[in-house]
Amino acid sequence: MNLVRAADLLSVYRVVFLDSYGVIKNHQGLIPGIQGTIDFLNGNGIPFRILTNDASRSQIAQVEKFDEMGLKGIEPYHVVTSGMMARLYLKFKIHAGIIAYIGTEQAAEIILQDHGRAVPVHQIDLEMSGEISAIVFLDDEGYDWRSTINHCLNILRRVNIPVIIANTDQIYPVTKNDVSLATGGIAQLIENVIRRNFIKFGKPDSQMFSYAFDELLKVGHQIERSDVLMVGDTLHTDILGGNRFGTRTALVLSGNTTKANAQLLIDSTGVRPDYILENIIL
Ligand SMILES: [Mg+2]
Repeated sequence: MNLVRAADLLSVYRVVFLDSYGVIKNHQGLIPGIQGTIDFLNGNGIPFRILTNDASRSQIAQVEKFDEMGLKGIEPYHVVTSGMMARLYLKFKIHAGIIAYIGTEQAAEIILQDHGRAVPVHQIDLEMSGEISAIVFLDDEGYDWRSTINHCLNILRRVNIPVIIANTDQIYPVTKNDVSLATGGIAQLIENVIRRNFIKFGKPDSQMFSYAFDELLKVGHQIERSDVLMVGDTLHTDILGGNRFGTRTALVLSGNTTKANAQLLIDSTGVRPDYILENIIL
């Protein structure tokens, strides 16, 4: 396993896409030195975007959170979330009826702001199931898992409506060694049981890559997909997504994937990054 240096990579690519958790921050806070990386990108006019599987916060709230943690130089337009992609889909595809959601009220306010009637799944009367036009998975918080999952299952046994997952992550880290089940994991449980395909937003799917790339084209950057370096800590989201979209990919060992398991994971999944580096710190 040949490790490359962040400094050698960042000066070569015209655009950088960064994952957030495991690249910029971790369970302890900011990854030490990340300010230098952001300053280098801003200072050298290298456009960057932060592509994050998250449906719990708006772009502005994401920036406020970075700011609170002490990271400067990130603007709302730098942030692309899976929640934004779900919101756009719902805005253009679902026009009437009740949208039933699973998650916090705060997440619903962001993602379902274009809709008049958004109701938490657990408040839906099963007799009213016919009035629901979609179910949206937003977050793993804001509800009692057992009763809500069962209620959702029973709604979906009554009506055939689209189910949207606004964050496909199945787990998220809570400490160095331990994880918690995330929205995508809860949704997949129901998806498996009722044997239907849900509509998913988040890496490795291409929507966030397309959105970020198209926005850069719109503001005048003349770039090819291969001019973009996607930096992430997870093979089956960041690296697989980047490889499929056609960016170059760099796996960092500052998060989900460690030096000890990287090669084994790469060989067993067949998901190969173009580069492997310790972290994205200069
Ligand atoms: Mg990550």
